[in-house]
Amino acid sequence: VAEEPLQWRSGFVALVGKPNVGKSTLLNALLGEKVAIVSPRPQTTRVPVRGILSRPGEQIIFIDTPGIHEPSHRLGKLMVELAERTLPNADVICFMVDISQPPTRLDRMIAQQVQRARGHKLLVLNKVDQKPKRPGENYLPAYRELGQWEMEIAISARRRLGLTALLSEISARLPEGPPLYPLDQMTDQTEQQLAAEFVREKALFYLQQEVPHAIAIEVEEWQEKETATYIRMTINVEKESQKGILIGAGGGMLKKIGSAARASIERMLGRPVYLDLWVKVRPNWRDDPSALGWLGYRA
Ligand code: GDP
Ligand code: MG
Repeated sequence: VAEEPLQWRSGFVALVGKPNVGKSTLLNALLGEKVAIVSPRPQTTRVPVRGILSRPGEQIIFIDTPGIHEPSHRLGKLMVELAERTLPNADVICFMVDISQPPTRLDRMIAQQVQRARGHKLLVLNKVDQKPKRPGENYLPAYRELGQWEMEIAISARRRLGLTALLSEISARLPEGPPLYPLDQMTDQTEQQLAAEFVREKALFYLQQEVPHAIAIEVEEWQEKETATYIRMTINVEKESQKGILIGAGGGMLKKIGSAARASIERMLGRPVYLDLWVKVRPNWRDDPSALGWLGYRA
């Protein structure tokens, strides 16, 4: 029997950066489990998601944040606000960038915000597996210049390179403290919330342009039946035209999204799922404060 450590360490680690640098991919890779959805499109993550890593003597609570960007609607504004709010309470801040691309104005802006926070600041250079945008160029000096970093670590979240080194740098900076979550809990999201996120992830994968960004999902019913879990969700979109695209010819698109999402939900629950998807038009919900509230997007 292993002895209980005398002194626990625990703390909050914020993963921040502009959209699409790989924050959610990193969270999933660190936990070895999918707790945050990922897509090739910016603004996939809408609210901060906690991923909890418990190891002997320590608990690291990662906070995956929405990418900080210049918002074009109320939902976007809220996303940025929620992301920025994680900074003051973080013990360690991982400022994540895409090392295969030169820094942009957004990287500079976020780096400045990070500099003002109290936590330990690590520069995490992701996507080392990807060739630089212009052959032979090295963007590291330009990223380094964006602030003062205790440490810089090159990783590939997708290929799982450099993660052990990153984890040990984070561990070394955790404050003393008891675990804040049960040791077997991996995220702060419920199975219902995760299931809805999986549907949104598949919509982001299969649909073009604006449509997936106009989607908000409500879980209306969740019933454990004898042979399967029955789940009914409403997918809200903003326009009639988006509803048409989402459903697709002969219902084909909705079927494709539904069966891909069902597979993910079944993997999570470890049992068969019957997924019943409905589509509703809710004009302008992304700019409607009350709709945002009951769809779960609150400050
Ligand atoms: P986020 O917006 O910062 O959360 O980014 P995501 O985790 O959603 O990832 C955005 C895109 O970058 C996805 O297509 C990922 O597969 C991709 N990506 C993430 N990490 C890496 C990496 O290490 N290497 C490469 N080549 N792509 C990555
Ligand atoms: Mg994300």
